[in-house]
Amino acid sequence: MGAPVLLITGGGRGIGAATARLAAARGYAVAINYRSDATAASTLVDQIRAEGGNAAAFAADVGDEAEVVGLFQAVERTLGPLAALVNNAGVLETQMRVEAMDAARMRRILATNVVGPLLCCREAIRRMSTRHGGQGGAIVNVSSVAARTGSPGEYVDYAASKGAVDTLTIGLAQEVAADGIRVNAVRPGFIHTDMHASGGEPDRVERVKAFVPMKRGGQPGEVANAILWLLSAEAGYCSGAIVDVAGGR
Ligand code: NAP
Repeated sequence: MGAPVLLITGGGRGIGAATARLAAARGYAVAINYRSDATAASTLVDQIRAEGGNAAAFAADVGDEAEVVGLFQAVERTLGPLAALVNNAGVLETQMRVEAMDAARMRRILATNVVGPLLCCREAIRRMSTRHGGQGGAIVNVSSVAARTGSPGEYVDYAASKGAVDTLTIGLAQEVAADGIRVNAVRPGFIHTDMHASGGEPDRVERVKAFVPMKRGGQPGEVANAILWLLSAEAGYCSGAIVDVAGGR
């Protein structure tokens, strides 16, 4: 049997890239989805292959239904049947209060952070579910501590989208539990990635780390460790769990 195939959305940079590296080292064939940074994704694929792993990159916007359908078809064609999915792609935009936000921004956030994971779950379930003749599988959704804290004054829209990710994890876990699919989530805290630049504050983690009980930001690899555990057989009786990776926050 070939290596189990894992699709990571938004896998070219940040937490997704760390997850891709670790997954490849653990023996997965890794499908790395990205939206626009083809260079980051192909560089990562080259690095994984140079270390003896198996990976390929796939462009698609997870908020676009036709692109998501095409993504799953391309992954299967290139790497084989899907065994696992990490819904990692996520965006936030410039820090501002809700009264300054327009509807276009709200729709962009919800398209990538909520519609994206739902569409990807749908495509994964159609392939992995024993109800549809599949072998079962595992899904990990990347939420955020923002789902608990609400991100006031920064991005309540983003925080609300992550609340939806938590709820989808709880409901879907129960919906597909008897069909051989486990669905779990991680809730990272402040992690050192480029995402904070999208909010207009590249050094945000340095400013806010004082609010973290451990007094530091997290590394992408620390989130990847939790994701890989949830995907693994060691977590075989875990479904609907939401694991905080947030330094005690
Ligand atoms: P990042 O460094 O900004 O990377 C985001 C990744 O998502 C990139 O690979 C990007 O693709 C991809 N992406 C964005 N929109 C997409 C779309 N519509 N379709 C497909 N791919 C898309 O972010 P990160 O910090 O690693 O965040 C990863 C996840 O962790 C997100 O869900 C985020 O909300 C969550 N999270 C992060 C933190 C943190 O402090 N960093 C905390 C809590 C939760 P391109 O490279 O092509 O742009």
